[in-house]
Amino acid sequence: MRISARARAIQPSLTLAVSQRAAELKASGVDVIGLGAGEPDFDTPEHIKAAAREALVRGATKYTNVAGTPELRAAVAAELSRIHGAKLAVENILVSCGAKHSLFNLLMALCDPGDEVLIPSPCWVSYPELAAMAGAKPVILETHPDEGYRIDERKLAALVSHRTRAILYCSPSNPTGALYDAATLETLARVVRERGGPDTFIITDDIYRRLVYRGEWVSIGRVAPELAPQIIYVDGVSKTYAMTGWRIGYCAAPRELVSAMAALQGQSTTNAAAVSQAAALAALTGPEEPIEAMRREFDARRQLMVECLRAIPGVQVFEPAGAFYAFPDLRAFLRGSIRDDVALATALLDRARIAIVPGSGFLAPGFARLSYATSRKNIEEGLARMAKALTEL
Ligand code: PMP
Ligand code: GLU
Repeated sequence: MRISARARAIQPSLTLAVSQRAAELKASGVDVIGLGAGEPDFDTPEHIKAAAREALVRGATKYTNVAGTPELRAAVAAELSRIHGAKLAVENILVSCGAKHSLFNLLMALCDPGDEVLIPSPCWVSYPELAAMAGAKPVILETHPDEGYRIDERKLAALVSHRTRAILYCSPSNPTGALYDAATLETLARVVRERGGPDTFIITDDIYRRLVYRGEWVSIGRVAPELAPQIIYVDGVSKTYAMTGWRIGYCAAPRELVSAMAALQGQSTTNAAAVSQAAALAALTGPEEPIEAMRREFDARRQLMVECLRAIPGVQVFEPAGAFYAFPDLRAFLRGSIRDDVALATALLDRARIAIVPGSGFLAPGFARLSYATSRKNIEEGLARMAKALTEL
């Protein structure tokens, strides 16, 4: 069968593939410990589920406005205006089926062939693919653990030009957990002002902004208010509120762009699920305690995972400041038949029954991503298995 060139060019999501493989093995009775999943293991807080049940009783079973219900868009506009010190109206907000869908709509509405999307790496698996799907060229700016994954101004300046349609980053980062401080964001803003064009946008993926354990999360909107018309905020409820399966993400952008994205969405998925939008509204306007309790538990798990990794001779690991991933350098273990990080991850799945994501998916060959969005018991047992397998390799 002939498959379109567009579809053939797409790499399937490695993060989703690893989680699915671990789930299949578990279902077939294999005692596998999943450290691959990029989703909280907690259940959605009860007050959010209750709001969804009530919404169903009230009849939230129909289409809504394509861009989202007026109530949810207003709540998102209020929250993002407060966080970023920005003046965002309902017309600046588009609600989509997850932040991944927001990014898809955004890049489809922004990019033409020949446009470049600059992405600091290591980066989330989906960024280069989403840019390429939109016909743009992903341009990768490498950053390194020994420099705290900071952006080097000279290297950035050499890559930014009028062809740069967007700079797309995530802080804290999936996969490294690195957090951009105010100085890094100032560097980014300066380079966009000096080297970019009026149509060069900064897309900040803030999906992990509430999951920070060391240092302070800073909004680029507050660091560079003069760039407000060129800043696009991508955010959502998946990670903060343990709501990955509800599929609600959103984006704040200039009105013209939101209209274009809404037209794309109106001809593809229509609105995000009505009941999920009601749940997201309850999440954004409800109590903070359940969120803070999850954050504290993630922090304890983060410290445990870093400690376990550092105890394995030959493993180097950057201390993550946020999100829920550790990203160790495993290059010391690549030898013989274990030629690369994919072979290493496969060997660890076969021999140690732990699922991790190979670093090459995040454009960092020789590394691996381990998620600590799982119980302390799983982290201890999984890392003990990993230590044993790595010493026996
Ligand atoms: N951005 C990053 C960096 C992510 O890790 C994820 C996780 N899937 C997303 C966006 C999208 O999340 P969702 O589509 O569940 O809102
Ligand atoms: N973002 C998560 C991850 O990186 C979930 C899976 C996905 O959407 O790619 O694992």
